Order: sequence, then C-alpha cells, then structure tokens
Amino acid sequence: MNLSQLYTVLQGQLDQFTEQQTYKYEVPLEGEQGGRVKVGGRGEIMLASNNYLGLANHAAVKEAARRALDEWGFGMSSVRFICGTQPIHLELEKRIAAFVGCEAAILHGSCFAANEAFFAGLLANDFGQTPGFEDVIYSDQYNHASIIDGVRLCRGIAKHAVSRVYRNRDAGHLRTLLEEDRDKGYRIRVIATDGVFSMEGHLAPLPELVALAREFDALLFVDESHASGVIGQTGRGTPEELGVHGSIDVVTGTFGKALGGASGGFIAGRRELIEFLRQKSRPYTFSNTMPPAVVAGSLAAIDLIENDPAIVARLRENTLHFRSGIAGAGFTILEGHHPIVPVMLGEAALAQQMSRELLAEGVYVKGLWYPVVPKGEARLRVQISAAHTSSDIDEAIGGFTRVGNRLGVIQ
Ligand SMILES: *Cc1c(COP(=O)(O)O)cnc(C)c1O
Repeated sequence: MNLSQLYTVLQGQLDQFTEQQTYKYEVPLEGEQGGRVKVGGRGEIMLASNNYLGLANHAAVKEAARRALDEWGFGMSSVRFICGTQPIHLELEKRIAAFVGCEAAILHGSCFAANEAFFAGLLANDFGQTPGFEDVIYSDQYNHASIIDGVRLCRGIAKHAVSRVYRNRDAGHLRTLLEEDRDKGYRIRVIATDGVFSMEGHLAPLPELVALAREFDALLFVDESHASGVIGQTGRGTPEELGVHGSIDVVTGTFGKALGGASGGFIAGRRELIEFLRQKSRPYTFSNTMPPAVVAGSLAAIDLIENDPAIVARLRENTLHFRSGIAGAGFTILEGHHPIVPVMLGEAALAQQMSRELLAEGVYVKGLWYPVVPKGEARLRVQISAAHTSSDIDEAIGGFTRVGNRLGVIQ
C-alpha cells in the first residue's frame, strides 16, 4: 500500500462509519461544562458528562487553579525525577491516597496512563531474579478499555503474564477460575475490576472480591473512575458504599470526572508498590505530570467533598429524583442507585433518534449501542449531577416523556 492508497483507505473507512451511523460527532459547546451547557444558545440540560459533583466549573476550583497558575506557573516542562517536584503534587498524592483508603499514591497524566502503568510496570517484571515465572490477571468482562490495554501491554512485554476473563460481576465464576489455577504455580495473581461499570452504573461485588483475594492470596485492583466522589456516604467510592473501604490493595482513578473534571489519574496502594512504580512506571518516568493549576484545582475538589457533605448528598437526591421520575413515566431503566441511569431502548436507530429529538427539547444525552453494549440493548445513558437543580431534573423527565410518547417508547 503506498501512502496515497493509505489515505484513500482511511477516507473509505470514515465514509463507512458515517453510513453505518457509528461516526462519532462532537457537539460544539459555546461555554463551560456545567449542569446546563450552551449548544443552541438556550442552556441545554447536560445529562452526558462525568461532572457528577458540578466541580468542573465550580468557583472555588477555578479560583484555586488561578492562584496556582500565578504561584506555580503554567507547566512543569519535564517529568518529576528530572525537573523536580512541587509540594502541591506531593500534597495531592497524600490527599487522594487517604481519600480512597490507601497508604500512598502516585500521580499520572490520566487514569488511562495509570492503568497501563500499573499492569506493565508491575507484572511480567522479573524483579532482577530468575525468569521462568508466570503472572495471571483475572479481569472482569466489562472492564474499561484502559485495563484491557494495560493487560495487553504486560502480556506483550515479556509474555510472562496470562489473563483470564470472568463474567461481569460474577464472583462465583471468578472463584471457579481461581480454583482451576490453584496448582499452576503462578507468581502474582491480580483480580482487576472497575468499581462502577460505566455502561450500566452497576457496582462490582467488592466484599466478595476482597474475600476471594484474601483466600487466594491475590492482589485486588479496583478502578474507581466513576466512583470516587460519586458514591459512598461521603463520596469515597465503591469500597465505602459496600463497606470495604481500606481493604482494597490497589485503587486507581481519575481527576477528570467527579474530582474536578480536568485531567490526571492516580494509582494508590501500599508504600512499597507506589515507590516501585515511581521507579518503573513508564508513563510516569517518560511523560509529563499534571500541570500545577490542575493539581491545585483537584486539591480544591477534594477539599470541597471532604468539607461539604451536602454536595455528595445533593447528587444522591438528584439521582433518586431522576430514577423514580423516569421509571414512573414508563421508561425501562437498569436498576441501581448510581447517577449513571441507562434508559433502555433496544435498537441503535431509536437511541440515535431519541438523542437528537431530546437535544431539540433542550436535553443533552447520548446513546450507546453495539459494540459498546450488547446487540439489541441500545440505550441512552443519563448521568445525573449535583449541578442540576430539582427543576432541571423535572424538565429533563418532561423532555423524555414528550419524546418517548412521540416515538412510541412509552404510552
Ligand atoms: C474514564 C475512565 C478512565 C480514563 O480516565 P482518564 O483520566 O480520562 O484517562 C479509566 N478507567 C475508567 C473505569 C474510566 O471510566
């Protein structure tokens, strides 16, 4: 294939995505992210962002970032072990570790990078000893792409790691796999799961996973990206919600969702592990750290969550309000109590049409369909925020009801 053929092939692919209606369009926003956004100038209700606590444009977060910009500058211009580290980076590591119930933490440019860093940095590493070992990762079927890629990466590096997939949230299936492997002599066993699964809003069965990890001497890895700041009585995530805060070996997460919504990720765990990753994580040692203003904004986000329980409580109330209202209107939703509320529609075309018509009604929500979710389970994924007012929620339910009636989704 010569280069001109390559570009022709790429264009052909793009045309095909458009034809198959899988082309991902980006809606231009005329202002900041918030409970309402400006698309057509009227202030659409945003039901498609991970801005769970409304901190993405919170005055205190913006002010903290502005001050850090003046005090600590715009960028760091290298990685920390070369150009130095700032006290705010160390402070954020300490604060996030305590928040998620771990001893120490290490920052990364994103949670995607953090997940790749964890698997590739720890597993398939001979630790300077005799090779001839094999590690094993037990991965939930619905784990995030960054966990899947992280697992692929460490398999690719040394071929000293194998992975096994267990059915979504099925601790019984996981036990079967662990028992099958009991006498295989694996060196390190890791159980890897999302705390909250982003397509469903379902929670991983952490108490069962903690017990299995102890019984089989495995490391339990939980990605809390959709959970930190979101669930648990005080927003400390899935382990808090399910009564096992402080019992998870490794917690990763993002500062790009509830915790300010800018960017950055972390790995939290035992001090030895974190210190080792500071030496061996490639995304840490070869890629810039979070910029000072984002670090300070993320710190302010944690301050807000810790000092004002009303924010997390408001998210909980709004979620309950929307869940009961939308179910009362006759829609089928996936049960739960996470602010991710999947409204089940079935066919992709219906989800797309409904999303379009809702935007015209002033409600911004996106559809998901195969292959992101199973065939025939196309849905609109609603995400509720503490930034929504009670009347925003009522208005959103009203929009859903009008469009749902028009399209015959509800009677
Ligand atoms: C969003 C998300 C990520 C990626 O986070 P970034 O910081 O944006 O890279 C990783 N894991 C899960 C489970 C996520 O939902």
